[in-house]
Amino acid sequence: MTIIDAHNHVGTIKKAHQSGADLVAKLDKAGVEKAVMFPFVEGDFSNEPIRDAHREFPDRLIPYCAVNPWNDTAVDDVRRCVETYGFKGLKLHPTIGGYHLSDPKLCDPLFAVCEGYGIPIVVHGASDLYNCPPEFALMAERFPNVTLIMAHMGFFWSVDQAIRFAIQYPNLYLETSRAPIFEIQTAVREVGADKVIWGTDSPFVDYAFEFQKMSSATDDADAYSKIVGGNIARILKL
Ligand SMILES: [Zn+2]
Repeated sequence: MTIIDAHNHVGTIKKAHQSGADLVAKLDKAGVEKAVMFPFVEGDFSNEPIRDAHREFPDRLIPYCAVNPWNDTAVDDVRRCVETYGFKGLKLHPTIGGYHLSDPKLCDPLFAVCEGYGIPIVVHGASDLYNCPPEFALMAERFPNVTLIMAHMGFFWSVDQAIRFAIQYPNLYLETSRAPIFEIQTAVREVGADKVIWGTDSPFVDYAFEFQKMSSATDDADAYSKIVGGNIARILKL
């Protein structure tokens, strides 16, 4: 069983810092094999810290790029990250970036380019207006061949909507970071273990706790192994 954490930030912002080495130390302490990482997206940001951390820990850290679709360079940035540096996915944060996830002019070109590469898109998916679960449903329907991962699974107010849409759309997955265990247990029971993905959102968490909490997600060992690594490994073709 390969344990993979599907949500981490590497880089520096005013309120937080995490290097690749910091993250790998957390993985080692918790017994986690690999971690997906992407930039902090507040203010101006770049994908260079991710590129560099991946070069330093190629077997442990899985690089996703992040872009703001308002920038004219967004599509080219994704292309360069994937083709030149081997990035494996895209992270979007509509609330911080100031756009609706379902905005056709801003987001469709990014979804189209990810569809072409066959890489997943993880999107901040708390119950905020710009990235509430119906925004995900619109995109899951518009791009059925894109794997779309809803970080925070609609927490706080929209978990039930998130679960409903994850059942309805085969390409929509729920990711558990910041979500309490009651909501995660509900998601596993109703959507199924194949559609639930473990992530922590480090450094904004107690790392060991975020891993330990998943031991209560299900009583089924096979389901557990899918949630804490098998599903994201399949999506990323690891
Ligand atoms: Zn995050």
